[in-house]
Amino acid sequence: MSKGAGSNRTGRSSRSAVVFGGAGFVGSHLCEALLADGTAVVCVDNLVTGSLDNIEHLHREARFRVVEHDITEPLPRSITRADPGQVFHLASAASPDDYHRLPLETLHAGAVGTERALELAREHRARFLLASTSEVYGDPLVSPQSESYHGNVNPTGPRSVYDEAKRYAEALTAAYRRTHGVDTAIARIFNTYGPRMRRDDGRMIPNFVCQALEGRSLTVTGSGLQTRSVCHVDDTVAGLLALIRSAHPGPVNIGNPDERTVLEIARAVAEVVGCDLTVAPCPPVEDDPQRRCPDITVARTALGWSPTVDLADGLTRTVRWFADTAPSSRPNPNTVFTGAAGG
Ligand code: NAD
Ligand code: UDP
Repeated sequence: MSKGAGSNRTGRSSRSAVVFGGAGFVGSHLCEALLADGTAVVCVDNLVTGSLDNIEHLHREARFRVVEHDITEPLPRSITRADPGQVFHLASAASPDDYHRLPLETLHAGAVGTERALELAREHRARFLLASTSEVYGDPLVSPQSESYHGNVNPTGPRSVYDEAKRYAEALTAAYRRTHGVDTAIARIFNTYGPRMRRDDGRMIPNFVCQALEGRSLTVTGSGLQTRSVCHVDDTVAGLLALIRSAHPGPVNIGNPDERTVLEIARAVAEVVGCDLTVAPCPPVEDDPQRRCPDITVARTALGWSPTVDLADGLTRTVRWFADTAPSSRPNPNTVFTGAAGG
């Protein structure tokens, strides 16, 4: 993995970055890592699923600016004058509950939003990174999923607003590279978890962690035998940085290949929280991918990147953050936070 910001293939310095979606869960960690590396950051976000709380601690940084703006609208001077060497596009609802609630906004962010971000990169000869997703593989018929697999997506189902927006965003990104010579990269991010996930965003890890801390049963959907491979946000951000600092166009899978069933993940959360696992069975989710596991050969070989945070450690850090920041719901007094999960 190349270290430091350096310059991109057009020779532009990469000491300044625009991060669309920078007030979200992954985006806020990315802004933090870029600033720590000496990169000036303009964070652009309309706060539809993100929060200023996620980036509050970055305001003391002189090289950090926040612009509240919807990426689907024309970009104001306050963004374009940043003259970025790097443009990251993370601006999209990502949790299934969020994109079901915001179907048209999600499609729009993937389509018009991606075009605006690509135009910014084109104008400033910046390197561009699209935060795509393992959802482009849909409910995969092969496992693990490598980048050469083209997926099994229902184009009109409930998840299509997200999946097809990202597939279109990938196609547009590849076309800008071919047609306009923009220095682009596509990251296919697999399930990422960690501090700053919204406790009500509906995703598996925040749900399970909050439920366990509050002494409630864990809401496992369907058989619970569907799999996910969860990656700690520090690893995901390191993967995104390795990709933008490389010349690789992608797509590159960024994820942790430690595949577990949803039930196993529920058990691991209960173990870290220190409570017995009780399950509140929920109906299966329509088009819920049954297997998800990244083949990360490309990331390993081309970027020198692989995840380093194991599930027990990552969950321990995550549970601690949720316990420490709980607004009203104090941890259930009957649970003991052990800080360790079994395999
Ligand atoms: P998130 O919802 O926490 O962050 C998304 C951010 O984008 C939010 O701050 C939101 O307000 C902002 N946003 C949405 N629409 C916008 C618009 N029109 N204009 C400006 N800002 C807008 O989600 P996240 O988990 O941090 O995901 C970030 C990115 O990574 C997304 O693009 C998502 O598709 C991708 N991704 C995430 C995961 C994951 O597991 N977290 C997995 C695969 C891909
Ligand atoms: N899930 C679950 N209980 C919950 C939330 C999610 O069992 O409270 C399941 C969901 O059906 C899926 C997996 O956990 O099989 C991961 O869901 P998540 O929403 O985190 O992300 P996805 O990978 O589906 O986008």
